[in-house]
Amino acid sequence: MDAQLSELKKFLKNDQISTDVQDLENYGRDWTRAFSPKPLAILFPQSTHEVQLIVQWAITYKESISLVPSGGRTGLSGGAVATKGEVVLSLQRMNKIGDLNEIDRLISCEAGVVTQDLQEFVKNKGYFFPVDFASRGSSQIGGNISTNAGGTKVIRYGLMREWVAGLEVVTGAGEILKMDQALVKNNAGYDLKQLFIGSEGSLGIVTSAILKFTTPPEIPTVILLQSAKLDFSTEILKRFQSRLSLTAFEFFTQTALEKVLENQKTESAPFQKSSPFYFLAEFEQKSDAVMDEALAIFDELKAEGLIIDGTLSQNDQQREKLWGYRENISEALSKFKPYKNDISVKISEIPEFVREVEVVLTKNFPKVDIIWFGHIGDGNLHINVIRQADQLDSDFENECKDISQKLFEVLKKFNGSISAEHGIGLLKKPYLSLSRTPEEIQAMKQIKKVFDPHGILNPGKIFDL
Ligand SMILES: Cc1cc2nc3c(=O)[nH]c(=O)nc-3n(C[C@H](O)[C@H](O)[C@H](O)COP(=O)(O)OP(=O)(O)OC[C@H]3O[C@@H](n4cnc5c(N)ncnc54)[C@H](O)[C@@H]3O)c2cc1C
Repeated sequence: MDAQLSELKKFLKNDQISTDVQDLENYGRDWTRAFSPKPLAILFPQSTHEVQLIVQWAITYKESISLVPSGGRTGLSGGAVATKGEVVLSLQRMNKIGDLNEIDRLISCEAGVVTQDLQEFVKNKGYFFPVDFASRGSSQIGGNISTNAGGTKVIRYGLMREWVAGLEVVTGAGEILKMDQALVKNNAGYDLKQLFIGSEGSLGIVTSAILKFTTPPEIPTVILLQSAKLDFSTEILKRFQSRLSLTAFEFFTQTALEKVLENQKTESAPFQKSSPFYFLAEFEQKSDAVMDEALAIFDELKAEGLIIDGTLSQNDQQREKLWGYRENISEALSKFKPYKNDISVKISEIPEFVREVEVVLTKNFPKVDIIWFGHIGDGNLHINVIRQADQLDSDFENECKDISQKLFEVLKKFNGSISAEHGIGLLKKPYLSLSRTPEEIQAMKQIKKVFDPHGILNPGKIFDL
C-alpha cells in the first residue's frame, strides 16, 4: 500500500498527501456520526490536472483503491465517509473565486470554495447567491452541487441545480468533461451536467463550476408566528404566499425551540408563552404597503384562531435573531446524536402525514422524543428522534432501523421521498427502492458504468452495483 501511495509523489507534493491519524479521523467522516472513519489516506489536489492524475492513478490500482470526493463534510447521509480504506480526495485547496460577469450574471469558482465565501463575494458586488442553509460556513460549492443542496430559500429560488450554469468534472474514467458553455439556451443534445448535480460524487469529481446569481431580495423581513396546530400551516402558507413575495416558509416545534434555548443559554424565548408550533415566514418588504398587507394577514389569522401570536423583524439584527431559532436547531440537537431523517411529501399533506407518523412512532417506540422542523413551504420535513437517556448506542442503533422502517411505511403511503435534500449516501442506501422504481435504479446503475466504468468513485454509496 505504501508503494501505491508513493507513486502519488510523482505529481503531488508531500504536504498534499496525509496519513496523519487526526486527518484520517477528520476527513474520513461527515456530519453523520453513524459510521467509523477508516480511510487509507487524504489527498489535497490543487488543480483539475492533479485531480485527473489522481483518478488515473486510482484506475491503475482499481482492484484495491477507490476514491471518496470530499467537500466540507457537512453532509447528513454518509456520502463523504470513508469506512473501508478508501482514499479521500479533499477539494478544500481548490478554493479560488473567479471573475463575476454582471452582463451574463455568472461567476466561476473552484469546487472547494466555501458556500458562505461565495455568498459574501457576490454580496460585496451588490448581488445575491440564494442557495443557503445553516452549514454555509463549512459546506463547499462542490458538495452543494453533488448533493443538489436545498435549504431555506427553495420556495422562492429553487435548489442548487437552478444556479449551476456550467460545470467541469473529472469522471471516474479519468476524463475531464468541460460542460462550461454556460449559455441560457443550449439544447444541443443531452444536458450532461444535470447528471452530475446530485450524484453524490458517484459519477465524477466536480472541480469547478459557473454559477448564476441574482439581485438581492428587497428588505427581507421575518415574521415568526405561534400556532396551536400544524393543520393550520397550509392555510397560513396559502394566505402569505398569495399576497406577499415569500422567500422562505419554515416551521419548528416547541421541543425544538427548547433545545435551541438550552444550547444557546444566552438567547431568550421569542414569546412569553410557549405554543406547540412555530411558523417562520420571510418576505420582501418592497414598500410600506407590503408591511400593511403582512399585518393585515396577521390580524386575519389571529382573528380566525389560526395563530396565537407573532413577532415581526424591524431590522437585519432582529431578522437574524428570529432565523436563529430555526437555524440553530440542527446544532442544538447534534449533542444528543439523534436519529435524523430528511423526507418530503406534498405540502398539502404535511399535517396528515405528521399526525400519522406520530401515531405510529409513539405506539411502537413510546419512550423516545420526536422533534420536527423543516422547510414546509416546499414539503420538506426534518424528523429527529432522541433516545431515552440511559439507552445504549447499540440498542439505539437497532431501534433506528425499526424507526426508519415504520417511518418509510407511512411515507410510501403518502408517495413521499426518503431523501428531500440530503441525498442517499450510505445512510439511506437500504431504502432507495422505496422512492425509486427498479427500472429507475437500473438506469442509474447503467449511467454509473458510463462515467465510472471501474467503479472507483464513492463505491457502495447510493446503491451497490
Ligand atoms: C447544520 C446543518 C444544516 C444543514 N442544512 C441543510 C439544508 O437546509 N439543506 C440542504 O440541502 N442540506 C443541508 N445540510 C446538509 C449539507 O450541508 C449539504 O448536503 C451540503 O450541500 C454538503 O456540502 P459539503 O461540501 O459539506 O459536502 P460533503 O458532506 O463533503 O459531501 C457530500 C456529498 O458530495 C460529494 N462531494 C463533495 N464534494 C464533491 C466534489 N467536489 N465533487 C464530487 N462529489 C463531491 C461527497 O462525496 C458526498 O457524497 C445541512 C447540514 C448541517 C450540518
